[in-house]
Amino acid sequence: MYEFAYHRPNSVRKAASLTASGEAKLLAGGQTLLPTMKQRLAAPDALVDLAGIEVLQGIELKGRTLHIGAMTRHADVASNATVREALPALASLAGGIGDPHVRAMGTLGGSIANNDPAADYPAACLGLGATIVTNKRRIAADDFFTGMFETALEDGEIITKVLFPLPRRAAYAKFDNPASRYALVGVFVSKRGRDIRVAVTGAGPCVFRVPAMEEALGRRFSPKSLEDISVDAGDLNSDIHASAEYRAHLVGVMARRAVLAT
Ligand SMILES: Cc1cc2nc3c(=O)[nH]c(=O)nc-3n(C[C@H](O)[C@H](O)[C@H](O)COP(=O)(O)OP(=O)(O)OC[C@H]3O[C@@H](n4cnc5c(N)ncnc54)[C@H](O)[C@@H]3O)c2cc1C
Repeated sequence: MYEFAYHRPNSVRKAASLTASGEAKLLAGGQTLLPTMKQRLAAPDALVDLAGIEVLQGIELKGRTLHIGAMTRHADVASNATVREALPALASLAGGIGDPHVRAMGTLGGSIANNDPAADYPAACLGLGATIVTNKRRIAADDFFTGMFETALEDGEIITKVLFPLPRRAAYAKFDNPASRYALVGVFVSKRGRDIRVAVTGAGPCVFRVPAMEEALGRRFSPKSLEDISVDAGDLNSDIHASAEYRAHLVGVMARRAVLAT
């Protein structure tokens, strides 16, 4: 490590002003940022720790929308009674992230800001049509995840919470990498009125929807409707863990399992 300043503001406004100048970085649970700094892949001159900002914490159901603060830890989403009752697919997704240490420290905001191509929360946000609220604006999940480790966030923009509209049916099916528990392929499926969503993580450079599957499920919401639909392996990741063709096959399998589980 090397020298850097450490700030722990108690409001979003103070955090925003601390990140406005220099090479400061927001710190959530440090699960990605600290290893990146240790490897010297990032060298911020200051860390702005969001852990002291109360309004970024917590889970609340308002009408048919679940509000989850950006600093809410995965373990808290997994164990929260309101989430388990109102949106069990999200509680179970959070409970399947990494290991107990990662779930105790990792946060919703940190996960989606980082937008790792194999992370689980991006699939939930896109698959539920969530809205990402920042200190400046509201961003639809459809516009938020723009590429590998890329999002629509501007420099220093702070995610404050995520709004999840409650679906009528939803489930997440993940084929995980046994070492890291990151998704080799994960598929989140939801149905809310006529809005049917199929969001895939782990398979490509960035989370994506599968319109052909959504249309087929719109005609009949059954795993059978997906039997003849495949995704193009040409657009998918290939690495030591799985070839693009294997991932393409898994997308179909996980999508059918998710529909069955809704
Ligand atoms: C061993 C291991 C296994 C893992 N397995 C999984 C897995 O199975 N599935 C999965 O989805 N994830 C997995 N993760 C990722 C983990 O769940 C964290 O969510 C992720 O590492 C981000 O960590 P964090 O929340 O601590 O954010 P940090 O590391 O503190 O921050 C990450 C990035 O987000 C920015 N940031 C943080 N908060 C905000 C905010 N509110 N607004 C704007 N920018 C912000 C930071 O500046 C930084 O650039 C794993 C991580 C590890 C180390």
